[in-house]
Amino acid sequence: MRIVQSLLHKFNWKYYAVTILLLGVALSPVRAQQEGRDPAEPLQGKAQPTTLPRPAGAVARQDVDEKAMAALVHELVGCGTRLSISSWTDPKRGIGCARDHVVARFNEIAKESGDKLRVIVDKYEAESERTNGPAAMENVYAILPGSDPKLEKTLFIVSGHMDSLSSRWTDPVPDAPGADDDASGTAVSVESARLLSKIAAGGKSPFRATILFAAVSGEEQGLLGSRHLLDWTKEQGYTVGGMLDNDIVGADLAPGGPHRVRVFSGNGEIDDCDSSSRELARAIEEIDGREAIRMVFRVDRYGRGGDHYYFYKAGLPAVRFTEPLEDYTHQHQTPRTENGVEYGDLEKYLSFAFMGNVARDNAEALRQLAMAPAPPANVHLRGAVSPDAKISWSAEEDPERAGFEILWRETTEARWQVYDFVPSSGETILKGVSTDNHFYGVRSVGKNGARSIAVPTEPAQRTTPSVIKK
Ligand SMILES: [Zn+2]
Repeated sequence: MRIVQSLLHKFNWKYYAVTILLLGVALSPVRAQQEGRDPAEPLQGKAQPTTLPRPAGAVARQDVDEKAMAALVHELVGCGTRLSISSWTDPKRGIGCARDHVVARFNEIAKESGDKLRVIVDKYEAESERTNGPAAMENVYAILPGSDPKLEKTLFIVSGHMDSLSSRWTDPVPDAPGADDDASGTAVSVESARLLSKIAAGGKSPFRATILFAAVSGEEQGLLGSRHLLDWTKEQGYTVGGMLDNDIVGADLAPGGPHRVRVFSGNGEIDDCDSSSRELARAIEEIDGREAIRMVFRVDRYGRGGDHYYFYKAGLPAVRFTEPLEDYTHQHQTPRTENGVEYGDLEKYLSFAFMGNVARDNAEALRQLAMAPAPPANVHLRGAVSPDAKISWSAEEDPERAGFEILWRETTEARWQVYDFVPSSGETILKGVSTDNHFYGVRSVGKNGARSIAVPTEPAQRTTPSVIKK
């Protein structure tokens, strides 16, 4: 004891008291648990729901015909220019030459599919400040009809634009090879048609909804072809279930590839509720995997536009696929060399390994979406000022549907988690789950494991917040 006392005399007591106090606070297990932890939701003990496996028979990467894609791109580049206001009748040079090649390829594929694929050339007139007055335009569609009478009027679209642009936007004289922008997207659309019509060829097609493979014109003249396609779907009585725009999907020039393809989706305009386009992007990422898809939560590349735009603005699910890192010396440039820099959208910069990945990812996303039941409707969240979240939705009768997945995520999370599985529509109560801290959604699940896109909850009635009880 005497020894201890003599030792203590040697210490500076004030200094050690403070140090010991601070150490105690930092190491205290009680404090560590309290700091940074929020109340648990759902209440502890909630079992993880069992989820159905996704549909078997995924499109295999080795089934993608890169050579056929390269051949089509080569033919399109060989048309010299594909400016939408170049010649529609010259078989050797101009946009008409491109149409001919796309139609010929679609016809070959249709033949291989036992004529399940229907090829249409849709002629129309359009005008913008880049058309020198009203201009004749044509889109090419290949349609794979859905096999389910209830879903055949639901349409999933994959689209590329077959037109191209030189440095002179209204001049058909200069060459505009457009290998990447957008012979690549056209090749992805056409190859998707081949991959999926092959699946549909024997017996009853597994695709319940209809799939349309498009090669539009007029993109560079102001999204004229896709705008016309949107009108066409309405005239034909289709509901657009999803629109996959592929534009500049042919190159992966940055070192360290292969990289992920970017998938752009807009926010939408409703408070606390993402757009259906965002839900389509999430569905694509979930189907193809995070290693294949880089979601970008933005309607398009900054300050730029594409063929999904008018679909998105119409409230329809529409996204844009674009390569990882664009090279602007290749886009919309008349081929030339200036100060040692080579300009021009040339085939030599393309990567068919990358483009093949994009084709596979488009085809697989379309395959699963076209096999899925319709998304639920009237998806509402109630339960403000109450301890439980109440989610309700409706859905038409569908004997092929297994049920519904209730989805949730932290408001700061990018991706859904499955909270629960419910066999029939109506209302489900999430006990002890606050309406405030998460976003919620519902999606339909087929007996085949295919999921619809998610439908995020909206309030049952839009009310001014001040009117809601405080
Ligand atoms: Zn483009």
